[in-house]
Amino acid sequence: MDKKLKKEYKKQLVEKKQEITKKLSEFFHESQTIVEIGITQDEGDKAESSYTKEFLLSLSDSERKKLQLIEEALQRIKESSYGKCQMCGKDIGMKRLNVVPWTSYCIHCQEKAEEESS
Ligand SMILES: [Zn+2]
Repeated sequence: MDKKLKKEYKKQLVEKKQEITKKLSEFFHESQTIVEIGITQDEGDKAESSYTKEFLLSLSDSERKKLQLIEEALQRIKESSYGKCQMCGKDIGMKRLNVVPWTSYCIHCQEKAEEESS
């Protein structure tokens, strides 16, 4: 992959990483606050706030997974294997990298993996 292009993807990945890290720390604060409020509320309110907490936690779970993918992609940039499918070894299309720069698989392998897991 072109050096300049790689630098561009790296920039995107680092920015995304910072964005998620910031979001996660906000979520964490928010869910902490909800837990604290929950202690003094009656049963009805408590149920609602625990729902909100679960929602926040599940959201942060998917963000954490994305963060992991970004870390791996940054590692691959370092090792110069970035842009190659981790399953079949072929180049991942640029169109795809522009949309999901942290992806590990080409579109075909991704579809195959999703088919198998569903
Ligand atoms: Zn592939």
